Amino acid sequence: MESAGSTGRPSWVAVDGPAGAGKSTLARALARELGFRYVDTGATYRAAALAALEAGLSPDDPAHHARIVELVRSLDLRLGVDPNTDGPTPVFLNGRDVSAAVRSLEVGQAASSVARIPEVRHILAGYQRHLAEEGPCVMDGRDIGTVVLPEAPVKLFVTASLEERARRRAGELLALGEGQAAGDVDLGALTEQLKARDQQDTSRSASPLMAAPDAVTLDTTGQDFETVLRRALLVCRERLGGGD
Ligand code: C5P
Repeated sequence: MESAGSTGRPSWVAVDGPAGAGKSTLARALARELGFRYVDTGATYRAAALAALEAGLSPDDPAHHARIVELVRSLDLRLGVDPNTDGPTPVFLNGRDVSAAVRSLEVGQAASSVARIPEVRHILAGYQRHLAEEGPCVMDGRDIGTVVLPEAPVKLFVTASLEERARRRAGELLALGEGQAAGDVDLGALTEQLKARDQQDTSRSASPLMAAPDAVTLDTTGQDFETVLRRALLVCRERLGGGD
């Protein structure tokens, strides 16, 4: 059963937005502050994409979709939900630690393609929903406020300019060792990749990326993190109740 807050509604915070907007950093910090678990749903799509690529299946080839769906259905997928974990979200695929492997650019792009397959979304959303029903959580993704947890009392839609998102992604990739020197991460190419992912995520017919009508939009362009976190916490405390 989902755990209800003092308002009788589930203690769920849905955080949606495009790639690189600062969602996961914000969602994780919110979970820490609120004492909730943190569910990184992007990691589930990344794990599915990695499994497909390792099986020699291409998410961009419709002829492979049925086999990808079967593969995803049979995966033993485990996601770490402790917001105090440092580094990338712990992800285990059939018992193997793939936390770092799922963070590559190639897997991110393939995740966006896998995420267009409606049956894959259905399977992964079921797993995500199951995690939310185990207790209070902050969940981030693209369709959390609209599809996975539509009854979440708090919905945040986090955005930032394309240029700022590309800069942040470059920093993340460098931190993960995808480039040994700053010159190894090509900002122009990253911008183009983000644009392509935005296009793919917003135009797909199954659960496209969009703000729920009752979401509060937070534009993080040029904002320091503490300011954004304070604003988000205010919205959470107002809507979850029990904080006054
Ligand atoms: O957030 P992250 O970059 O890890 O997500 C990888 C991809 O997974 C996204 O580009 C998006 O296509 C997909 N995704 C999704 N729905 C979610 C979370 C992620 O479609 N709830």
